[in-house]
Amino acid sequence: MRSHLLNDLTAEQYCRSVKEGVERVAARIAATDRPFTGITVDELAPRIDRIDLDRPLGDTTAALDELEEVYLRDAVYFHHPRYVAHLNCPVVIPAVLGEAVLSAVNSSLDTWDQSAGGTLIERKLIDWTTARTGLGPAADGVFTSGGTQSNLQALLLAREEAKTDDLARLRILTSEASHFSVRKAAKLLGLGPDAVISVPVDPDKRMRTVCLARELERCRRDALVPMAVVATAGTTDFGSIDPLPEIAELCAQHGVWLHVDAAYGCGLLVSPTRRHLLDGIEHADSVTVDYHKSFFQPVSSSAVLVRDASTLRHATYHADYLNPRRAVLERIPNQVDKSLQTTRRFDALKLWMTLRVMGADGIGRLFDEVCDLAAEGFRMLAADPRFEVVVEPALSTLVFRCIPAGVTDPAEIDRANLHARKALFASGDAVIAGTTVDDRHYLKFTLLNPETTLDDLAVVLDLIADHVEQYLGESLDRAS
Ligand SMILES: *Cc1c(COP(=O)(O)O)cnc(C)c1O
Repeated sequence: MRSHLLNDLTAEQYCRSVKEGVERVAARIAATDRPFTGITVDELAPRIDRIDLDRPLGDTTAALDELEEVYLRDAVYFHHPRYVAHLNCPVVIPAVLGEAVLSAVNSSLDTWDQSAGGTLIERKLIDWTTARTGLGPAADGVFTSGGTQSNLQALLLAREEAKTDDLARLRILTSEASHFSVRKAAKLLGLGPDAVISVPVDPDKRMRTVCLARELERCRRDALVPMAVVATAGTTDFGSIDPLPEIAELCAQHGVWLHVDAAYGCGLLVSPTRRHLLDGIEHADSVTVDYHKSFFQPVSSSAVLVRDASTLRHATYHADYLNPRRAVLERIPNQVDKSLQTTRRFDALKLWMTLRVMGADGIGRLFDEVCDLAAEGFRMLAADPRFEVVVEPALSTLVFRCIPAGVTDPAEIDRANLHARKALFASGDAVIAGTTVDDRHYLKFTLLNPETTLDDLAVVLDLIADHVEQYLGESLDRAS
């Protein structure tokens, strides 16, 4: 068994084993002609059920053969140009290399004595990101597992900084298009069921600042305490960016913590042409960035940033065995003092390798490409009589639906679009997402693959229209 551990005696086995696995994945990626095989749960589950975990194969090749059967052959592949569903990106190779390094060395970033250089690399990347964000010299932050955790931590700090301990009076104001993790965080933070005030959006799905101003006034009148405004820089469905300068102004007037959720829009920080879309983010008290969305990094890679490093103390607890108080006096950098996690992956290494190999502009250009594609896709959809498209994208999503000629029943249009999405997934020809707008069912492309072309989108739209036609044909048959 010892030889299964990565230690100095097994370096050779490590190379062989990883090489074999990497070659498998590379061959699989080269062979995928569709983003998905269309396999169903009922087909796949028995293959996994059959496997007896108490009877190991004892052999890497055999285990990889088995993995082909239960996972690799039928996985959903984000690198395929016709995977245009959720906020998942194809990953850049320097980051994948970073992933391989970090899991082999297995540093844990909670304390200096478990990571050494890893701690300093993470800190430097946080400083780099806060500088790009414009948060000022007192800024700091920490890597997290994702936007959900970043939003939770930011709101924890905001709650601790709020001017009351009366949880029942605390309110968070955020647009109706913001991410559901804001509500989840409110619940975890012990706030009441009415704690999150939903601010209406304009036709472009951006927070209406007049409504925000009104809600802030209403809070004041009702002796409620707005503990944070959560602005979104890139809503999950529409990629819309709330008017950050105006929101920052209102937060300053009312003395309210401004959190900017840039989980999706953070790629603009490195965009050579679109950085201005984030203007105003520099006024934030805290910011969420998900490198695993628009920096083309493998899951997980995310950070929470704060304007004032001292606010991170609300996450500080000391354990004698790990990060005793005296370590602070000795100026030993223990990142656990800033984090909700204890043992923590060295995810920062992936971004480090990416910046060292490709550079920030390289990443920014990739993000620009998908934003350009979305703009072209919008024009194509707007010109196509089969489709109705919702908003002109600021980033890289397109929300639309097929309106077949001659069909007027809204419920039937809903069913036809739902059917098209499911049928497409079952075929594996493309993977798309869906959402609702004004209670009607829409389809969504999230474009994060620079290899996706306008032709790919045209092909997928034709497939959607075909599935819709087919559904309506069958629907007529059912009626007659
Ligand atoms: C994806 C997303 C989140 C959640 O991030 P995870 O990394 O999935 O936890 C939060 N906010 C926005 C706007 C997002 O798009």
